[in-house]
Amino acid sequence: MSTMPAAFVGHGSPMNTLETNRFTNAWSEFARSFETPRAILAISAHWYINATAVTSMAHPRVIHDFYGFPQELFDFDYPVLGDEKLAQHVGDIVDPVWVGLDDETWGIDHGTWSVLAHMYPDADVPVVQLAIDASKPIEYHLDLGARLAPLRDEGVLIIGSGNVVHNLRAIEWRSPDQGFDWAQRFDDDTRAQLLSDPSQLAQLTGSDDYRLAAPTPDHFLPLAYIAGLASVGAGDVTTFADGCTMGSLSMTSYAV
Ligand code: ZN
Repeated sequence: MSTMPAAFVGHGSPMNTLETNRFTNAWSEFARSFETPRAILAISAHWYINATAVTSMAHPRVIHDFYGFPQELFDFDYPVLGDEKLAQHVGDIVDPVWVGLDDETWGIDHGTWSVLAHMYPDADVPVVQLAIDASKPIEYHLDLGARLAPLRDEGVLIIGSGNVVHNLRAIEWRSPDQGFDWAQRFDDDTRAQLLSDPSQLAQLTGSDDYRLAAPTPDHFLPLAYIAGLASVGAGDVTTFADGCTMGSLSMTSYAV
């Protein structure tokens, strides 16, 4: 099996699960551009806890972790299998970093399934989620991402799902194709950093634009895993979707 890509996907609104648009088309085209992985390790902005952990269950439950959306979205199912052996293996390869095995609290959240609904609509590739440890600095996430690199040669697709710019307070629902100046500028700066030196992603986090783009770091940090992988692994960084939406969301997606 050849080396799998790794990708950061800007997931945006949960409604993208049910819609077809230029972003969701880019996600499905990306998935069709390489062979089907044997499993997926997903790092979603929506599993942000004070621990490093992976889901370790045969049938991860589908978590509808949002409110105020149509019933159709709460009814959405993504009946994918887990992979307990992969969960254990992740703990082994990142040693001495400690990874908890979660066999009951989490499952597959909408950061993961809103994207996989388009990439693998048949839910036929097993999924393990990796929690983002909120107690750790960005350097920890870059390092942990780099440690996951061997999985790429074992047929495992690694996906980070978040948004480079994610400021829900500033959001303008009626501006689907626009970003504020600061949002566009931070999106551009992030692209420049990833395409030149992904290992130094942390340099972006000191600016005023970063504070507006990531008032909490949960949606930005999945990118650190992909940047960490890019800094040690095969392949250049490319974008496969880009642009801001609703003023304060970036949908820019990256592949290694
Ligand atoms: Zn989200």
